[in-house]
Amino acid sequence: MKFATKVIHAGQEPDPSTGAIMTPIYQTSTYWQKSPGDHQGFEYSRGTNPTRKALESCLAALENRRYGLAFSSGMAATDAVMKLLKPGDEVITGTDLYGGTYRMFTRIFADYGIVFHFADLSDPQNIKQYINEKTKLIWIETPTNPTMQIVDIAAVSAISKEHQIILTVDNTFASPYLQNPGDLGADIVMHSATKYLGGHSDVVMGALMLDDEELYKKLWFIYNSCGATPGPMDSFLVLRGIKTLHLRMKAHCENGRKVAHFLKSHPEVDKVYWPGFEDHPNHEIAKKQMKDFGGMISFTIKGADAEKTFRIVSSFKVFSLAESLGGVESLVNHPATMTHASIPKETREKAGITDNLLRLSVGVEDADDLLDDLKRVLDI
Ligand SMILES: *Cc1c(COP(=O)(O)O)cnc(C)c1O
Repeated sequence: MKFATKVIHAGQEPDPSTGAIMTPIYQTSTYWQKSPGDHQGFEYSRGTNPTRKALESCLAALENRRYGLAFSSGMAATDAVMKLLKPGDEVITGTDLYGGTYRMFTRIFADYGIVFHFADLSDPQNIKQYINEKTKLIWIETPTNPTMQIVDIAAVSAISKEHQIILTVDNTFASPYLQNPGDLGADIVMHSATKYLGGHSDVVMGALMLDDEELYKKLWFIYNSCGATPGPMDSFLVLRGIKTLHLRMKAHCENGRKVAHFLKSHPEVDKVYWPGFEDHPNHEIAKKQMKDFGGMISFTIKGADAEKTFRIVSSFKVFSLAESLGGVESLVNHPATMTHASIPKETREKAGITDNLLRLSVGVEDADDLLDDLKRVLDI
């Protein structure tokens, strides 16, 4: 099946009891058993629920994987992957990491004896210096948040395979429409489905997609034992959101391209981070592993201090000042005090997250209105 067909049909059959075309919201915690153990595959909704099961099959299909697992948030999905590890195990990850992931690694799992190494992944060879017999996981994000760096997934996967290390790719920023890390060799694809997959800023959810049966069984055991699984209503919302993923992503990319070029030519703007520019350091890799360049763009305002940046970021009318991304509506965010506030200032600035940096999640409104909004606030 092609992508545009999978988003609408994968995992979804007309409901056997009624013929309902849309998967019903099975709002139940438990299931009738004819005699102990004699049931229709569902026992208790922490572990299995029909609405969630349809969503998980769809999620797996979108990343061309055999298995999908839905979690109650992106962080819950990450938490499950981390619970594959034991004290003393080591993890290699990037310096430019989602703030919540960085916080979980350094303030939760470091206390459980997991050791983290942060490498500059713009060159995958930088990983090698940290590999030893205790290295069990490589965790990457691409494009990175918020400076839109590109990590060569196939190159990292070649290294992880050589050393038999599990490679997990957080594919939230690209969505499965733009990039499929599993096809490039990643063992686990992780998503915050809160973002592009859900697409309407109305639900928080996470997902893991993978092929390996043994790894799936381990992750399902963690998922069912720890219980951070989403309810049927949220599963329904994401299933419904996914039906327009391809249409939304096309519009995000088109608007993103216009906004990126507008910002690049604006006299008040200094740097613009967007992988679609030919002078982006890893543009060629982005072109190779992504279908298009998406609607996430960050930029710095020339000579602006924190105060001026605050004034600008509070003056938008079409873009809303908010955390999160990937919804139909355009959002603007001040990473230094919002999404990345939990990262120490020095580490943050080294990663380019300065006080004059803004991140845009370009939505699917009319591009003219978005450009007018940007024009107006940059003249302040
Ligand atoms: C939002 C986000 C997460 C965390 O997901 P939640 O659904 O908010 O728990 C992880 N990684 C990236 C890149 C994100 O944008």
